[in-house]
Amino acid sequence: MRRTTLLGGLATAALLAAAGTLPATASAAPVSTDAFTRAVAQLKAHSGSALVADGQSFTLKNVQTDADGTEHVRLNRYADGLPVLGGDTVVHLGKGNTWKGASQSLAAAPTRGAKARVSAATAGRVALAASTAATRRVDGTQLVHDADAAGTTLAYEVVVGGAYADGTPSELHVLVDATTGKVRDSWEGVQRDGTGNTFHSGTVTVGSTLSGSTYQLADATRGGHKTYDLNGGTSGTGTLVTSASNVFGDGTLANRQTAAADAAYGAQETWDFYKNTFGRNGIRNDGVGAYSRVHYSTNYANAFWSDSCFCMTYGDGGSGWYPLTSLDVAGHEMTHGVTSNTAGLRYSGESGGLNEATSDIFGTLVEFYAANSKDAGDYLIGEKLRTSGAPLRYMDKPSKDGASADCYSTRVKSLDVHYSSGVANHFFYLLAVGSGSSAYGNSPTCNGSTVTGIGNAKAGAIWYRALTTYMTSRTDYAGARAATLSAAADLYGSGSAEYTTVAAAWSAVSVN
Ligand SMILES: [Zn+2]
Repeated sequence: MRRTTLLGGLATAALLAAAGTLPATASAAPVSTDAFTRAVAQLKAHSGSALVADGQSFTLKNVQTDADGTEHVRLNRYADGLPVLGGDTVVHLGKGNTWKGASQSLAAAPTRGAKARVSAATAGRVALAASTAATRRVDGTQLVHDADAAGTTLAYEVVVGGAYADGTPSELHVLVDATTGKVRDSWEGVQRDGTGNTFHSGTVTVGSTLSGSTYQLADATRGGHKTYDLNGGTSGTGTLVTSASNVFGDGTLANRQTAAADAAYGAQETWDFYKNTFGRNGIRNDGVGAYSRVHYSTNYANAFWSDSCFCMTYGDGGSGWYPLTSLDVAGHEMTHGVTSNTAGLRYSGESGGLNEATSDIFGTLVEFYAANSKDAGDYLIGEKLRTSGAPLRYMDKPSKDGASADCYSTRVKSLDVHYSSGVANHFFYLLAVGSGSSAYGNSPTCNGSTVTGIGNAKAGAIWYRALTTYMTSRTDYAGARAATLSAAADLYGSGSAEYTTVAAAWSAVSVN
């Protein structure tokens, strides 16, 4: 019998005090208002008169500083006081405040004085009609400028709340054209995934906190991450998982703490992966842990990340499924939070596919990082979820799932984001492992070429730097190629074999 146990419970007064969320100052990345001011000034100086003349303003999202002092200042953009979706920009400043360029989704300047012809109430009705949730309501409406390749359009961003028939909550964002009243785009803020797992991680150490005479499943060493039992509920936090013996679960599903131990373990390994691989201090890089909820709803065969609660939620699975608490799923879900706090890839079209692929890539790397013999690293997504043993997705040849794309084409942007991700997953596999047959699969190329992989460590570093430094909310596949090439040049040099392999791997999935 497998047991999931806690070793070395934490019982000091200081650690008890830290059982809640750690103060944001704990190892938080320094946020420089000075860097913000300099970045905006530099952007305006180097972007022509449009930025200055159009009444545009910026707010700071975050600053990333390289070891050599180079600063990457990520900005949100506003025009006439309204958010410009797709106008987010990363300003790159070298040592001594030298201009090194900017990465941005779309530079189009919004039309000044644009007026909405459609009322907010009408936009709300259009948005409600666009939702397929079983229960739905308008939770908020904001007038925005929505930028795309064709220019900038005044639109209402309507958030439709509610829940789908299977119990998944909805936070559907619908962009309604403020002139025509037609839907421009939509995406779910709740990123649900058919990933999952079980109690297959065996006996592991999880962080707990002694409170009085009871151990809480609360990890003071990783941002105060806590694990809750929803007990079939679909809202709130349910009950904090506790144990008098400091042992959580027994490896069987008869014990309801087993799934909680899996969730806690997944959160722990994901936290450690980002910390020890990239120096990232939590999902927001501010030292604050998310929290996890298990036993969501009834027969719920899914898991989801929500930015609004900054939390992860796992169902127990229905017929043919195990609880959805596997390592790669935990890593996948938490990575949605990392993406939201870095590139902010919009969860529709090609950027949505890149968002999903980012979660599959780092979920996979978390699985390798954990090096758990009960759930060894592989390039399969959700292989522990189903009683049949069939994975949800394959990175070596994504089309093996029957729906994902292996190669880029113009139809990719119309696919569900879990299938348009296939092109980037395939790219990552080729970059890390290479083409052809290996212990991990058999990966074809779309152009008949042969690619020699550079390994997980380098491939992961390149994707992480591209995500955090160069990608923006509307990055598409062509932009992802450019972003990863910039990242490879930074890390290994533009004449390096790594750089050449990035280019070759993208060409091998028809992104040229
Ligand atoms: Zn996902």
